[in-house]
Amino acid sequence: LSGRVRKPDWIRVKAPTSPGYHETRKLMRDKGLATVCEEAACPNIGECWTKKHATVMILGDVCTRACAFCNVKTGMPRKVDPHEPQNLADACAEMGLEHIVITSVDRDDLPDGGASQFVKVIEALRRTTPDTTIEILTPDFRNKHERAVEVIVTARPDVYNHNLETVPRLYPTIRPGARYYASLRLLESVKKLDPSIFTKSGIMLGLGEERLEVHQVMDDMRSADIDFLTMGQYLQPTPKHAKVMEFVTPAAFNAYAAIARAKGFLQVASSPLTRSSYHAGKDFAEMKAT
Ligand code: SF4
Ligand code: SF4
Repeated sequence: LSGRVRKPDWIRVKAPTSPGYHETRKLMRDKGLATVCEEAACPNIGECWTKKHATVMILGDVCTRACAFCNVKTGMPRKVDPHEPQNLADACAEMGLEHIVITSVDRDDLPDGGASQFVKVIEALRRTTPDTTIEILTPDFRNKHERAVEVIVTARPDVYNHNLETVPRLYPTIRPGARYYASLRLLESVKKLDPSIFTKSGIMLGLGEERLEVHQVMDDMRSADIDFLTMGQYLQPTPKHAKVMEFVTPAAFNAYAAIARAKGFLQVASSPLTRSSYHAGKDFAEMKAT
């Protein structure tokens, strides 16, 4: 396809205006916290922030990589903020969150890829707001992933999420700098080290992937013992990012969800506006209750 494809009616996003949205925004500013909701220009920000659900981005807002789909700034990141873990925990306590999602930019510049900061954040949260369940969405830690995962797993997050993002054929253009099988192995090693931690991964649809390639990714994820799957429509954040090749219909998302459930995922979220952290707390609470 050439040019930009017009958004269909099912990609409707309300402008964020509610008091809850503004309260969340102010709290994040006051605590000096970055969120992936803003940095990635997530279409769900109005809904999520109104419900006081945010995905906090640790280790700064500048990434050492430049994925073709991602709106996060690229460059040389700042020094790690030693106050970030407690600031984040305090924000979580103030918001009264039952579930928090923490992610980070890639920090290929740090000797441990940022793993120790994830641990400090989890420890600060456990101290400050012990009833909050913790979901982390980590980078692939490149060639440091074995040690990084070992360190993070000892802090025992409730959910360990790492996104495969797309099918392996599209990695060279969409996710350069990452390796599909390395990401799969990372998630597999979490489960081997501590089977009580739920593992989760997700892909974006609409980047030019074929249906059978998506099925293969699901099979690969199940072979790596991944528990939860998310699938959402890729949206081009700016004209310089990868083009949308297709708007996948809601019916096709439902069909993928049915196949994924049949393949044995414990939880599947699949819709045009699904994001890795969309409804994560609600879905996790429902899953634990069953
Ligand atoms: Fe933030 Fe995730 Fe909600 Fe998007 S879906 S606004 S990234 S919490
Ligand atoms: Fe964005 Fe993550 Fe890629 Fe960095 S590594 S550019 S934060 S998707």
